[in-house]
Amino acid sequence: MKVGIIGAGMVGSTAAYAIGLLGVAQSVVLVDLDPAMSRAQAEDINHGMPFASTTIVTSGDYADLAGAEIVILAAGVGQKPGESRLSLLARNAEVFRTVISSILAVVPDPILLVATNPVDIMTTIAHKLSGLPAHRVIGSGTILDTARFRSLLSAQIGITPQSIHAYVLGEHGDSEVLAWSSVRAANMRLDAFAAYAGAPITADVRARIDDAVRNAAYSIIAGKGATYYGIGAGLARLVSAISQDRRIVMSVSTETHGIAGLPQIAYSIPRVIGRNGVELDLAPDLDPAEKAALEQSVLLLRDTAQALDL
Ligand code: ADP
Repeated sequence: MKVGIIGAGMVGSTAAYAIGLLGVAQSVVLVDLDPAMSRAQAEDINHGMPFASTTIVTSGDYADLAGAEIVILAAGVGQKPGESRLSLLARNAEVFRTVISSILAVVPDPILLVATNPVDIMTTIAHKLSGLPAHRVIGSGTILDTARFRSLLSAQIGITPQSIHAYVLGEHGDSEVLAWSSVRAANMRLDAFAAYAGAPITADVRARIDDAVRNAAYSIIAGKGATYYGIGAGLARLVSAISQDRRIVMSVSTETHGIAGLPQIAYSIPRVIGRNGVELDLAPDLDPAEKAALEQSVLLLRDTAQALDL
């Protein structure tokens, strides 16, 4: 499978690197406003490929996307000093307007993977601008928050994150919801497993994990200015789920109809990912407080989208 990546900055180039290391695409093409930079990124990444896989990483223009089945949107502009979130969003919506029409002129029916932040709103924008069916416009959503949640639970209860079923829902951002009530460790409810393993989930442990998941990006940005390895690996896993039709359950952001009475806007819940993008939406099993928090989170996204007047 051929994968295009628009935006060869930190997130786009790290995604290309991770896709190559996993060997889940035959070729990756990087496209950026700055062709000298994307050429340099592609060369650097491509020189690592003989150590890992047969993936070929190149740079090019939109015409070079011909034949791509997945296009990752990692292009965006940074916040100007004093600029409001809404003004930044409006400028990124303009970037997507140009980028998406240029993609569709070459690849009429791609699966779009949206990584540009704020990812849920950018996914809603990409869906509107592209006219593609919602299951083919997928935001990275809370895939990383879910991974952080599982790895912190893993450290607490002493089993691998792969054997923990736990999800972060709603907005990828401050209002996200850790779905504690439905966490399963192997075949057991979390509280039962944690007590059995001698590592109970006390109120303090829960508050610490919740805070670490919610604030992970802030803490990484404070230390190094940006986050990209985690999301790069997550995007590569999404590509592998699609290119190999693996039907992996991931908490991605897509516009959803009629789940739990929530409005139609892109937000994350667990979804089955396969050859056609989102194959199935999985309505989360929540307690009343989590349900109310998810509704709040989704309404907040809807209000932002309405303020943008898409
Ligand atoms: P991030 O950390 O999110 O990857 P960067 O600033 O490192 O942020 O990367 C964003 C990239 O998006 C930059 O390389 C920038 O040149 C690119 N970009 C911005 N606007 C466009 C556009 N219209 N078309 C293609 N690439 C773009």
